[in-house]
Amino acid sequence: MKTLYEPASAGPAAPAPMSRHARPRAVVIGSGFGGLAAAIRMQVKGWQVTVLEKLDAPGGRAYVHRQDGYTFDAGPTIITAPFMLEELWALAGKRLADDVELRAMDPFYRIRFDDGTWFDYSGDIEQTRREVARFCAADLPGFERFVAEAADCYRMGFEELGSIAYDTIGDLIKASPRLFQMRGWRSIYKMVSGHFSNEKLRVVMSFHPLLIGGNPFSVTCIYSLINTLERRYGVHWAMGGTGTIVRGMVKLLESLGGTLRCNAEVQQIEVQSAPGARGRATGVQLAGGERLAADVVVSNADTMWTYKHLVAPEHRRHWTEKRIDKGRYSMSLFVWYFGTDKRYDDVPHHMMLLGPRYEGLLTDIFKRHKLAQDFSLYLHRPSATDPSMAPAGCDAFYVLSPVPHLDSGTNWAAEAEPYRRRIEAALEDTVLPGLRQHVVTSKLTTPQDFKDNLLAYKGAAFGLEPLLLQSAWFRPHNRSEDVEGLFMVGAGTHPGAGIPGVLMSAKALESVLPPMQQPQGAPRGDGLLPAGA
Ligand SMILES: Cc1cc2nc3c(=O)[nH]c(=O)nc-3n(C[C@H](O)[C@H](O)[C@H](O)COP(=O)(O)OP(=O)(O)OC[C@H]3O[C@@H](n4cnc5c(N)ncnc54)[C@H](O)[C@@H]3O)c2cc1C
Repeated sequence: MKTLYEPASAGPAAPAPMSRHARPRAVVIGSGFGGLAAAIRMQVKGWQVTVLEKLDAPGGRAYVHRQDGYTFDAGPTIITAPFMLEELWALAGKRLADDVELRAMDPFYRIRFDDGTWFDYSGDIEQTRREVARFCAADLPGFERFVAEAADCYRMGFEELGSIAYDTIGDLIKASPRLFQMRGWRSIYKMVSGHFSNEKLRVVMSFHPLLIGGNPFSVTCIYSLINTLERRYGVHWAMGGTGTIVRGMVKLLESLGGTLRCNAEVQQIEVQSAPGARGRATGVQLAGGERLAADVVVSNADTMWTYKHLVAPEHRRHWTEKRIDKGRYSMSLFVWYFGTDKRYDDVPHHMMLLGPRYEGLLTDIFKRHKLAQDFSLYLHRPSATDPSMAPAGCDAFYVLSPVPHLDSGTNWAAEAEPYRRRIEAALEDTVLPGLRQHVVTSKLTTPQDFKDNLLAYKGAAFGLEPLLLQSAWFRPHNRSEDVEGLFMVGAGTHPGAGIPGVLMSAKALESVLPPMQQPQGAPRGDGLLPAGA
C-alpha cells in the first residue's frame, strides 16, 4: 500500500508535480461501488489512486451494519450482471470467484399482491409463462412480445449505449436514432400496458425501475432492459453479504497499490483559475483541514452535493444553484433492519409486498412528495440463503419502503418509530406472524440519514430521477462541465443508479480521463504520464 498524502498547509494546493518516474495522482471522493470500480480501473491504467471515504468503512449505500450477531447489508442485495464484476477482477489479473461466491437465486423474487396472491418471478422462461398464464392466459402472446421488446431495449440501452460517456452533444446525436426507434419517450408502464391487459401482470412487468429509483409511470421504457439483464445473467446473492464484494474490491485496489482512507470527509475541491478561464481541480481539502494535491479529482459522492457543497459557486457556470434546484430527484427510502430469534422458513429471500395502490402511491412519492398512509414494501431475508447472516436458528431481515425525499417536510425524528410500527403490523398481519414477540435487534435508516450520513442531496436514495431528460447527455457528465480535471462517477452520472449502472459509469469515466503515455523504456505501470504533460 502506498501513502501519498500532502501534509496540511495554509496556501492553495499546488498542482501535483509529475515526474517521468511518478504516476500521476488521482483522488477519488467516496468508496461506493462506482468509486471503487473507478479507482481500480484508474490504478490499472497507471494512476496512483487514493480513495477518501467520509464513513468509517467503505461501500457507501452498500455499507454493512453488524449488530448483536446479525449482519445487515445496508443497501444493495440483488446482484445482477456478474460479468461486470468479473471484468474488474480480470483487469487486475485476478478472478472474482477467488474472493466472492455468487449464489444464483431461483426464483428471483416473489411479488405478493395486497389480496394475498403472488407471482414468483424467475429466469426460467417456461416457469414464467406458467405464472403469466395463472393470472391471465390471454396475456401470453403479449408476454412473448414484451420479452422481445425488452431484449431490444437491452441491446440498445445496455450493450450499445450504456458505457458511453455522453461527453458532447455529438454523442447524443449519434444515440438519438436508436432512442427514437425504441420510442424511448414512452414510460415503461405504458409500454407494458400495450402488451398485457391484466393489471397485476402490468405491475409485475413494470416495477423494476423502482429498484434504481425510477417511477415506472415516468421512466423511459428503455429500462425494461433490466428484465432482460436479469433473465439472461441471473439474480445472485453474494455469500456473506454484498459487503463481501465491497471488501473484495478494496482488496483488489490495494493489491494494485491504491489506497483507501476511511473517516476522511472531503470538504472542498480545490480549484485554481485565471480570470475568465475555466478553473482546474488541483486537489481536495478534508474536514480536518488536511490537503491533498492531485492531478485529477473524481467524485463518487452525490453529484449534486459535490457541485453544491464541494465546488465554490464562482467555478460553476453550468451547475448553478438554480439548475441544481430545478432538477427532479429520485425517491428516498425508509429501511428497517431487524433480527428475529426464530426462522420464518416460508418467507423467500427476496419478496415484494405490494400495497393497495400502485400509480396513486407512486404519484404521492415522486410527484406530490407526500408521505402516504399506505406503502409497498421490499422484504429481504438473506438468512434464507445464507445462514451466516444471523445467529443459528434466527433470521436477519430488512424491510424497505419507498418514501418521498426530504421535500415532503416529514420530521423523521418524530415519524420514524410510528412508521416502523405500522410496517411491523403490516408484516405481522401478512407474512411474519407473531413478529413483535420475536424481534431481538433493530435499526432504522430514514431519508434524513441519507442526507446526514451519505450526504445525499434532499436525502434522495438514487440521486437525480432517471427521467429521459435527466439521462445520458442530459445527466451530469463524467467529465465535469465546469471544472477541468474534475470527473464524476456513480449513480449521479450516466447511466445512473444500481450496481451495474455505477460499474458502467466507471467504464464510461475511463474513456474521458486524460490518456496515458508510456515513456520509452518505462516498465509497465510506471513512469506513465497523462498525454501532453
Ligand atoms: C436500500 C437500497 C437498496 C438497494 N438495492 C439495490 C440492489 O439490490 N441492487 C442494485 O444493483 N442496486 C441497489 N441499490 C442501488 C445501489 O446501491 C446504488 O445505486 C449504488 O450502490 C450507488 O453507488 P455509488 O457508486 O453511486 O456510490 P454510493 O454508494 O452512493 O457511495 C458514495 C460514497 O461517497 C461518500 N461520500 C459522500 N460525500 C463524501 C465526502 N464529501 N467526502 C468523502 N466521502 C464522501 C459516501 O459516504 C459514500 O460512501 C440500492 C440502494 C439502496 C439505498
